Amino acid sequence: MTTKKTALVTGAGRGIGRAIARRLAEDGMLVIVNYNGSEEKAQEAAREIISAGGEAYPMKCDVSDYEACESFFKEILERFGRLDVLVNNAGVTRDGLLMKMSGEDFGKVIDINLKGTFHCLRFASRQMLKQRYGRIVNMASVVGIAGNAGQVNYAASKAGVIGMTKSAAKELASRNITVNAVAPGFIDTDMTAKLPEKVREKTMEQIPLGRFGRPEDVAEAVAFLVSDSAAYITGQVLPVDGGMVM
Ligand code: NAP
Repeated sequence: MTTKKTALVTGAGRGIGRAIARRLAEDGMLVIVNYNGSEEKAQEAAREIISAGGEAYPMKCDVSDYEACESFFKEILERFGRLDVLVNNAGVTRDGLLMKMSGEDFGKVIDINLKGTFHCLRFASRQMLKQRYGRIVNMASVVGIAGNAGQVNYAASKAGVIGMTKSAAKELASRNITVNAVAPGFIDTDMTAKLPEKVREKTMEQIPLGRFGRPEDVAEAVAFLVSDSAAYITGQVLPVDGGMVM
């Protein structure tokens, strides 16, 4: 059993998750770098943390698979003996206008973003209840608050994540477990790189701070919410969006 605080970051091989993993390792946590498809990137992320003096372990799990998550959390507890922090970061988009959206594209986004968050929340909280300690951060989006044309599936998943965050916060508070959400605006990652230039320009016009966010901007907010400084904050949604949605 490790004596370090142990943090699981889902989808941490790249993008926002990778920046969060790096940031939590800087705070002295042992970090589990979860991935599904990007094994090499997860190994690279872990190596980067280790070479900076931290501790990190890449571990595969498809968060949309209930049984796989059950075994994954069992393995985490067998290996490390504890789980203090869970960051539900894994997420995907399958954008399209309502009239053209297939049931498959709707379901895929719900399965990963919403059900995936539920699965990890479900199995992590079992251990955190025993420990009488836990810090959980779920990745929402400003789109889950304000909606967005072409993202009915994604917005529904993220609004669901917000409802789940508040309900879990109420259920788990008496055991010293906080559950909050971070709602990023437009962050420069693979997810947004595929958007057409026109959409990027239009979005930029809506950002008072005049720049797209960096993964590190989101990582700072997560690091705060899982720190002792945020011990009295639960059930909240913190936008990290340069002022895009007020
Ligand atoms: P990204 O660069 O596309 O990365 C997505 C991550 O999710 C990858 O690490 C991927 O892992 C992981 N993932 C996808 N399906 C998975 C599954 N079934 N099981 C486990 N992991 C899975 O996206 P990002 O921009 O960093 O986004 C991270 C989170 O922030 C998402 O929840 C996203 O919705 C949210 N967000 C992003 C923005 C933005 O502007 N970028 C804005 C608001 C919210 P593999 O590659 O290993 O499969």
